[in-house]
Amino acid sequence: MNPIPLGMSGTPKEAFYWETLKDSSVKCLLCPHYCLIHENSSGACGVRYNLGGRLFSANYGRACLAIDPVEKKPLYHWKPGSMILSLGTAGCNMFCPFCQNAHLSRSSDLSHLASITKDQVLNFARGENISSVAFTYNEPTVWFEFVLETSELLKRSGISVVLVTNGFISEEPLDQLLPLTDAMNIDLKSFSEISYRKMGGAMEPVLKNIERTYRQGVHLEITHLVVPGINDSMEEFEKMSAWISSISPTIPLHISRYFPAFEWQMPPTPQEDIEQRMTAASKNLRYVYSGNLPGTNNTKCPNCGETVIERDRYYQVSTRLDHEGACSRCKTPQGIVMR
Ligand code: SF4
Repeated sequence: MNPIPLGMSGTPKEAFYWETLKDSSVKCLLCPHYCLIHENSSGACGVRYNLGGRLFSANYGRACLAIDPVEKKPLYHWKPGSMILSLGTAGCNMFCPFCQNAHLSRSSDLSHLASITKDQVLNFARGENISSVAFTYNEPTVWFEFVLETSELLKRSGISVVLVTNGFISEEPLDQLLPLTDAMNIDLKSFSEISYRKMGGAMEPVLKNIERTYRQGVHLEITHLVVPGINDSMEEFEKMSAWISSISPTIPLHISRYFPAFEWQMPPTPQEDIEQRMTAASKNLRYVYSGNLPGTNNTKCPNCGETVIERDRYYQVSTRLDHEGACSRCKTPQGIVMR
């Protein structure tokens, strides 16, 4: 059991999705860990704590923020070339030893994060003339109350909402978020329960949530980070890309190269391993991209071969699409959300 996080300020925000147990313990229902949390302790994510037999959110209204190109999320088929206000906080409900953002995901000290209200998020986006906000950097699931309330306000105000998530969330809270979410990038970390266990999660709920998100009509892209020694089985990868294709062959897949970080010091993923997976995935999926590799990552029309989006890293993006996201040459729809 984790201690209560440090550096909280203001009135504590009571959490959603929990139930009381005997002896002032509570059970958190937000994610499939279903943590049993004793008084004066926090759950596995480190940011939901039991005070006096009630569950509170420690990271409500605590954030770091930046403005990024939407391609950096990564979202390649959603408002290409636009900028997005990106917010993150502390905490995560998975425990990947190679985490690239461990200073946030594993932090139990909130004092380095700014205090922010949902109205300030809206005003900041408007002031910067930005039409979308992403909850990203750490896992937005464990920031549920702030994400939900801020998303409700943003949607009412005509601002789009993006979640960059590991997809490890219980069914009911996901169903509450989906109508408020315009686009989502879900990190599919492997295609094996054994690998998922090495990262402190479980695969089955993530697969269900990916399918649920797609069926609800939320724009969906999937990221897969290839980490030597964790999830580098080619056989599993091939099953994974076939499974994504069974939902829809038009879901964009981003296959990313790992670099040593946090507790994992294996050498970076060999470039040829990424290329091999791109070739294999392209047999099942129409839009396959590499991440963390030099070079371009253009989008080609699968029908006529025209380059419909040209990208040079994140900042130079030009499109040859009509206003509905179809190829300007052969008019084939690409499933690209323009604005
Ligand atoms: S959200 Fe946090 S406290 Fe709740 S079940 Fe998941 S890991 Fe445990």
